[in-house]
Amino acid sequence: MTNLYTWIEGELEKLEKQGLLSNIKVIGSPQSAWFDINGQKCLNFCSNNYLGLANHPDVKKAVIVAIDKFGIGPGAVRSIAGTNDLHIELENKLAVFKKVEAVLTFPSGFTANLAVIPALFGDGDIIFSDRLNHASIIDGCRLSKARIIPYEHCSVDNLKQVIVQERKVGFEKGLIVTDGVFSMDGDVAPLPGLVELAKKEDLIVMTDDAHGEGVLGDNGRGVVDYYRLHGQVDIEVGTFSKAFGVRGGFVAGKKIIIDWLRQRGRPFLFSSAMTIPDTAACIASLDILNKSDELNKKLWENSKYFKEKINSLGLNVGNSQTPITPVIIGDEKLTQEFSRQLFVKKVFATAVTYPLVQRGKGRIRVMISAEHTKKDLDYGIEAFQSVAKELKII
Ligand code: PMP
Repeated sequence: MTNLYTWIEGELEKLEKQGLLSNIKVIGSPQSAWFDINGQKCLNFCSNNYLGLANHPDVKKAVIVAIDKFGIGPGAVRSIAGTNDLHIELENKLAVFKKVEAVLTFPSGFTANLAVIPALFGDGDIIFSDRLNHASIIDGCRLSKARIIPYEHCSVDNLKQVIVQERKVGFEKGLIVTDGVFSMDGDVAPLPGLVELAKKEDLIVMTDDAHGEGVLGDNGRGVVDYYRLHGQVDIEVGTFSKAFGVRGGFVAGKKIIIDWLRQRGRPFLFSSAMTIPDTAACIASLDILNKSDELNKKLWENSKYFKEKINSLGLNVGNSQTPITPVIIGDEKLTQEFSRQLFVKKVFATAVTYPLVQRGKGRIRVMISAEHTKKDLDYGIEAFQSVAKELKII
């Protein structure tokens, strides 16, 4: 009998040889600036816990109160088992915070993208998608069966040309979709240009602001607030898994779209709702964002400091405009080695390589948090300098 899995062994060996095999480390303490990983206390440069809310006392307290009242599980999908009070509270509060008509939550940001794109677009429609969009946008586009036309990363000019071409072929409805903040490079989408073009061309605009929520705009209201484009971006997808410090996703926008997603958003209809503790934690995190921009300010202060120092060492941080700081190394094996040596120096900063980024664009993606102190950042910078010297990168 043939072994049906021999090909997987071969593929895994190939990945190992190319330095592309992902080996996941094990965390033994809460998320924080320093934490236990693989049994070693390390500086945490990998978490999307931008504001330190993943282990915030107020968030933890809110979860305990909610569990006492409602337990843990949602029962089933909301359209069958009913909606918990907390889901409604979170959606209403978030709609006010985001200055949109309505919000619908999902089990994750990934599933929010899988819900909204196929619910609105299908055969005969067209989707213009930034070449570096997140995998969940790409998968949502594929599921929709619409024609997918990539445009050059962040290029409104290229998008204009592409639209002209596609008009000749013809299409029914059309969408322009972009990450708000690009997760591997930290650059921000040229949303004002995209919105202007969409208006002229009668297209819908959607942004996935996973890395902008809690980071960009007033009190972390996101990329739409940052550009003051309220009411002009039809769909905003967001996640609670990063700055909110929890888990879950949402779609924010016009009420008519949200009403339709309750009827036709497949991950809403076929995957159970966010759990009680997740939902309560998100409400508590949102209350913190609403109350003060102190953590947000600290985050930006930290990331400016870190980027300037890393830049001055002669390392390449690409075009990042946000706290996502890619230290671009290039070669995959060298990037893996860089990360390995950082870990020896008690700095946890994972190598990000293909397929998360293009081949030959390996990087150490440093995620700065409001929880880092200056001393923490200096510790990390010193480790980067010493490893870069050892590997003759600087
Ligand atoms: N979109 C973007 C741009 C992301 O970076 C991520 C997380 N990597 C997601 C969507 C998925 O979010 P979640 O973790 O909530 O599924």
